[in-house]
Amino acid sequence: MPPTKWYLNLPKTFPRKLARDLKKKNAGTVINLDVTAGGALAFAFDATVDWTVTYDGSPDADEDYVPAGPTLARARSPRHHNKFKNQLTLPMVTGRTYTVEARRTGHDDQVPLSRQYETWQRVYYTVHYMNQACRAIYDAIRPRITAIFAAANIELKERAVLETRVDELFTTVDSPLLPHLYRTRDKNCALDRAPCHIRMVIVNDLVDVERSWVSFEIDNTTSPEDGQCIRLSTRGDDHEIIVYENDTVVFDTAEPFDERWTKITASTPPIEVPDECVDALADHPMLEFEIDVDGDAALAYLHEASLEGQRDSTWEVTLRGSCRGRWCAEGWFRRYEHAVKVELTLANDAGNKKVAAGHYDRYECWLADGGDTLIIDDPRMVLAETAVQTITVTASGEPLVLDASVATRVSDGCVSIDLSGESSIAEALAVNENTGAITINVVRCGARANGDIDDETDHEFVVPKIGESTTHKDDDRAVQCRFGYKTRNLNVVGDKLLFAAGAKPKFEVEVSAAVSIAAGAWSLNGAGTKLEIDLSADGDLALAAAAMAAGRTVAFKGYFNWRQSFGGYNFGKATHFVALTTKKFGNWDDRVMQKRTVLAFCHEIGHALGLSPKHFRNYNSGVNEVNDRYYTDDQGGTGPHCHYNAELVTAGSAHGRPDTNSGQIWWPRTDGSELCIMYHTLKHDSVAEEFCPICLSHLKRSKAHFT
Ligand SMILES: [Zn+2]
Ligand SMILES: [Zn+2]
Ligand SMILES: [Zn+2]
Repeated sequence: MPPTKWYLNLPKTFPRKLARDLKKKNAGTVINLDVTAGGALAFAFDATVDWTVTYDGSPDADEDYVPAGPTLARARSPRHHNKFKNQLTLPMVTGRTYTVEARRTGHDDQVPLSRQYETWQRVYYTVHYMNQACRAIYDAIRPRITAIFAAANIELKERAVLETRVDELFTTVDSPLLPHLYRTRDKNCALDRAPCHIRMVIVNDLVDVERSWVSFEIDNTTSPEDGQCIRLSTRGDDHEIIVYENDTVVFDTAEPFDERWTKITASTPPIEVPDECVDALADHPMLEFEIDVDGDAALAYLHEASLEGQRDSTWEVTLRGSCRGRWCAEGWFRRYEHAVKVELTLANDAGNKKVAAGHYDRYECWLADGGDTLIIDDPRMVLAETAVQTITVTASGEPLVLDASVATRVSDGCVSIDLSGESSIAEALAVNENTGAITINVVRCGARANGDIDDETDHEFVVPKIGESTTHKDDDRAVQCRFGYKTRNLNVVGDKLLFAAGAKPKFEVEVSAAVSIAAGAWSLNGAGTKLEIDLSADGDLALAAAAMAAGRTVAFKGYFNWRQSFGGYNFGKATHFVALTTKKFGNWDDRVMQKRTVLAFCHEIGHALGLSPKHFRNYNSGVNEVNDRYYTDDQGGTGPHCHYNAELVTAGSAHGRPDTNSGQIWWPRTDGSELCIMYHTLKHDSVAEEFCPICLSHLKRSKAHFT
């Protein structure tokens, strides 16, 4: 007589419906034993029976990890009415065969009871398939998943096979238990064998949605005819973008897009501002300019985008500039006219300069050429081309106004004034070398620094993130830029930087506008891997298209939802729900698809049964022993996994492997040895259709009970 299968995980008090699945109530860890006093025992009213239990089938190594051996409630049972009763308590370990015998005390030849029990667990499952292709996969994998768990003495029992309510291309794991796929009140749909009953869903593609930015540039020469396409990279994967024509951008990617992707930014790479769009707001040498946005198509785009402020769009300008000029850390006194008033005699020559050294003023004045030339030198001034505005000389009480043309700009700070044309000045000075004074009153033109100024050199500045009617000041160069959307210009003002004579600054402007694209402006192909955006269908993007048509390169930045496919998914430890996919955004052949589904199912049930544990409890020594096959996210995947037969190697895309926090990842060996089902990904070429010995032992000791 073969041993009785005894299901340790099934509840003793299961529902009546469940009882029909079992010939006897062979469930739970307690077996009630009784011997009817027949045969030689029938009239032996004082007889007792002695009990023994032995077992085999469990590897020795497991012994330490099982809480307690089989326990009989009593070693000897007295007769009670017509029976001898006992109770056998079994540890939670499958794959053992117990032999229980009752012998009449003192009569070894009388064995009124000899039974064998083989320990098992049973897991009921209900399958939902999305279509006939999914159904065919289930039919093909059914004997294989059954065999894999049978190796751990876990019996998979099919409860119902049902078609899902919808057949969808992608099933997103954003709602627990995917309730749109079935109705639990439908016939045979409830998990009526709970807590030993799981739901398995086989869908076309199981995905999670992940958001990321991608950026790319398009110019109006990019077309498939030229064989030009642009590759961009996200998360290490290449995605190809092709522009078919000016108004349509096509994304062709390996990973599918989700319909709910959100925003795209169209921005021009730096646009060189044409000189004719730049107007100086003040005479040289101030750094004060106005950029007329209407003077250039791409700049006009900035303005149009800004007017759309009430729409769901945001835009920004980055201004880059370069100019030759001089720098004053203390900034510049912005008034353009600067007066010099000083009294001089012939004694004030180059060796005896008159110095004005106030907090701001630091000019020196003297007379050269025996009084014919007046020199004013000011290291804090940068004089304009027309260095002076007015020259007034008071000699002998009479103010004389000289023509500005007698002044010559010698250098940035120095001007010389020819006094020789006025004889009255020479006469006044000649009265006495020390007392013959003249008073000069000169108004110079230009900028004056509030501190020392550096030598003339080339400067660059960047004013980032200029939004609507906001002023931003660059930290280093102290250049301010403000966009006046009503005046349609960009004002650029230098606070510490002064551009050099004859050196008009060069400006570049980068404009970006992020807009949500209306549903009508984009379309996805069936697989979700090809996204087309019709730029002409959106106002802002149409402007970007116009800029492209005008010869600009336009940079795009998209905020996309990418689909991340899963092979399998379970909704938490000890869940009664497992979802499986039949493919991963590609068409696997049947053999691969079936193997992946087998692995995914067994892997997820493995997780639900506590694999891979970090520790094993050693009941013999009383300590928790480290499971040296255990690893988690830092060395690959998500969650606890098993690296049986794998090797720890360097992670990262440079090696064609995913990145990990530790920089290392468990990876299949090159010798072809097969990995455990609890390896962290579905490497169908490397993973065996079996649990490794360590995981298998753990499965035998883990109670299948889904809450
Ligand atoms: Zn896993
Ligand atoms: Zn394993
Ligand atoms: Zn439940």
